[in-house]
Formats: sequence, structure tokens, C-alpha cells
Amino acid sequence: MLGLLLIKCPKCGSEFKGEKPVKIWGKAGARTGLFDCPSCGARFKAPIEEKVEIKEEVSIKNMVSKLKEVRGEFIQTLKNLREKIKTLETERANLLLEIEELKKMAESKVNALESEISMLREEVKSLRELLGCTDTEKE
Ligand SMILES: [Zn+2]
Repeated sequence: MLGLLLIKCPKCGSEFKGEKPVKIWGKAGARTGLFDCPSCGARFKAPIEEKVEIKEEVSIKNMVSKLKEVRGEFIQTLKNLREKIKTLETERANLLLEIEELKKMAESKVNALESEISMLREEVKSLRELLGCTDTEKE
């Protein structure tokens, strides 16, 4: 595609779109064209500006690949997070089990202490009876 950038006539200075050169030389990106000025009719050579579309296309491609990259990273992060969550959930379950066991242990300890205390109370009671302090307890 030929550029739509304005070409300036070196003779009269008028600007026009260089869409239809009389002749073209060179490779893509470095082309020269032979133009006829529509105002004064002068024929002159001028560099042809290739359309910037090519560059834009490239940058769009870059953007797309960058987006894909970002998406890939995001998916990886998500995967990592899921694995982390899984590990944490397992750990939590284990901790809950441990807490449950500790609770049971504490409960049995409390039960043991309670029965020991009631035994001691009985002993205190019988000792008081032996000492003849039964009046104070009003039995
Ligand atoms: Zn001219």
C-alpha cells in the first residue's frame, strides 16, 4: 500500500496525496516515486511513505502475544494459588483433628481431676468424722 502522507511539490509548494505515482523505484519501506504535481504539472521524484499500518499490525501482534503471555502467567498464578489453597486446607484439617484430640485429652484430664477431687472430698469428710467435727457439717 502506498502512503497517504502528503507530498509537497518542490516547484509550487502545493501538497497532494501521493497515491498515484507515475513510476516507482526501490524496495518496500524505501521506495521513491515519480509524481506529477496536480497544481502546476511539474514532474519530480519524492520518497514514498509506506503506510504505517504495517507497524500498527506488528504492534497489535505484539500486544496479542503480550496478552497471551499475561494470560499464561495469570493461569500459572491461579494454579499455584489453587495448590496452595489445597495444601492449606489439608493443613487446617490436620490441625482441627489435632485440636479435637487435644480437647479429648483435656476433657479426660478434667474428668480424672474431678474424680480425684471427689475422692479427696470423701477423704476429708471421713477424716472430719474421725475427728468429731460432724456437727459443723450438720449431717
Ligand atoms: Zn506544483
